[in-house]
Amino acid sequence: MEKVVIIGSGPAGWTAALYTARAQLAPLVLTGQQPGGLLTTTSIVENFPGFPDGVDGYELMTRMQKQAERFGARTSFGVVEAVDFSKRPFTLTVDGEKVVAQTVIIATGASHKHLGVPGENELETKGVTYCATCDGALPLFRNQPLVVVGGGDSACEEALYLTRFGSEIFLVHRRDSLRASKIMAERTLGHPKIKPVWDSVVTEVLDRTLDTVNGVRLKNVKTGEEKTLLCAGVFVAVGHVPNTKLFSGKITMDENHFIVPQQGTMTNVPGVFVAGDCADHVYRQAVTAAGAGCAAAIDAERFLAANP
Ligand code: NAP
Repeated sequence: MEKVVIIGSGPAGWTAALYTARAQLAPLVLTGQQPGGLLTTTSIVENFPGFPDGVDGYELMTRMQKQAERFGARTSFGVVEAVDFSKRPFTLTVDGEKVVAQTVIIATGASHKHLGVPGENELETKGVTYCATCDGALPLFRNQPLVVVGGGDSACEEALYLTRFGSEIFLVHRRDSLRASKIMAERTLGHPKIKPVWDSVVTEVLDRTLDTVNGVRLKNVKTGEEKTLLCAGVFVAVGHVPNTKLFSGKITMDENHFIVPQQGTMTNVPGVFVAGDCADHVYRQAVTAAGAGCAAAIDAERFLAANP
């Protein structure tokens, strides 16, 4: 019987692990398919306190894991397939095995949102990607025009990163101003290789018949004008969807499937807590996720003390 099982291994999961480990609860962290979470796919993180020169996303997550393990957190590279929260202790099915837990902290984070246009799914890995740091250096993108879709911090980060490889970077955004933070927006729009394409949406990724990306169809949402923009890659950065499907019908969520905690970090199921991007559509920062992981750990510890 586990005292605390943490589902997810991003900043929320590892911080919850650190705190519950230091409370001598020997938490079990189930990493999921992407150990370290989305942050492992970013390059330099400049806004996590304590790193004045920035820190590589992968390195930050590795450090968090080491810190939690130093105090007794245990790591399993398991993927949770099902949960039974109908009675305490809770039962989780992890890669076919049952894990029984007195408390659970959900820290499953979020995944990249898709555009949902023709050609996007078919040409994924053939020029369509959701991660510039993972794929930007591939030969097919070198010295080629590239498209980044989105207007937030992620889109800016992707565009700036791609300036190392592409010949020019078209930043396609559906409005005429960026949502990104001021510093990122200024850096992006000030870069000579980055060309914004305002008020425009991608309506199709080309070319399915050639089985590779060679352009996008664009529509100007103000004028209705349509055109083709030639490019070798499409980097989609239009936000995230919470990874909460597993808990559908079991845990209270909002209309966009973000988990809604009821009391502190506790969900509608006493003994099940939540932290990080799977419950946060407002702040969505590594540091706020880490803070929520800390809060969930303290809540779980107090719950266990009151409900042994
Ligand atoms: P985001 O802030 O939600 O931005 C998503 C962008 O995609 C918005 O510009 C949005 O347009 C656009 N968009 C959404 N759906 C679309 C669609 N179907 N078609 C076309 N465009 C669409 O997401 P994010 O950039 O991934 O950032 C998520 C969070 O992480 C934010 O809180 C951000 O600050 C943080 N983050 C920070 C950094 C950093 O500080 N270096 C880096 C990455 C992420 P509208 O603007 O019109 O809504």
